[in-house]
Amino acid sequence: MHFEVLTLFPEMIENTFMTGITGRACLEGIVSLNTVNIRDYAVNDYGSVDDYTYGGGAGMLMMCEPVYNAFLKAKENTGNKAERVIYLTPQGERFTQRHAKEFSGEEALILLCGHYEGIDERVLSKIVTDNISVGDYVLTGGELPALIVMDAVTRLIPGALGNGASPEDESFSDGLLEYPQYTRPGVWKDMEVPQILMSGDHKKVGQYRVREARKRTMERRPEMYEEYLRKRGIY
Ligand code: SAM
Repeated sequence: MHFEVLTLFPEMIENTFMTGITGRACLEGIVSLNTVNIRDYAVNDYGSVDDYTYGGGAGMLMMCEPVYNAFLKAKENTGNKAERVIYLTPQGERFTQRHAKEFSGEEALILLCGHYEGIDERVLSKIVTDNISVGDYVLTGGELPALIVMDAVTRLIPGALGNGASPEDESFSDGLLEYPQYTRPGVWKDMEVPQILMSGDHKKVGQYRVREARKRTMERRPEMYEEYLRKRGIY
């Protein structure tokens, strides 16, 4: 998987992505990252990439031309292989594990980070294939949302988690939140690890975990639990 990120703050993307598990995945060649600084495609020597909005209103809007030229560069960098251009926007579809899984099947992704009041609608309509939101709130820029998408996608690429760890039995993968987990010591502040987890009986441990995952989902995400039951024809 190759990520091309169109941004006004490349260092924010690079520094964060190159930290921890995503950074290691990058160093091991499991994923790769390139940023294109939209300001390098400014319309004048002052580095302008934004202007006032037609019709009035507070705030500035990113202009078509710098965004479009940065996009052409990013597309060229992928050898024209990237078919999906994701615009991070509060007006997009709410990002879920389903999107992460779908995006992880692509060879390359282009992610577009907005700033100020956003981006001129004309260039968005020309280049964007997916509008993605990370939640119903407004951030100052698209970099944190882009990093969220890249992180969730990267950990689904085989080998990215290392040590044979699998994202398969985690929250959302089977329509349930994950069961509670414990590590050593067996007793901490008078709280014991459930005995069944120490029993060595894999079948019983498996059944216990499914039970706990259902209970947790029912308590914390009732709408998700209803969907889980509906998909299994339970009602
Ligand atoms: N005026 C825009 C609106 O009301 O929809 C909000 C612009 S926001 C201040 C600036 C940029 O931050 C957006 O272009 C987008 O790239 C990013 N952004 C802000 N909130 C976001 C969210 N919840 N999900 C994804 N991107 C977001």
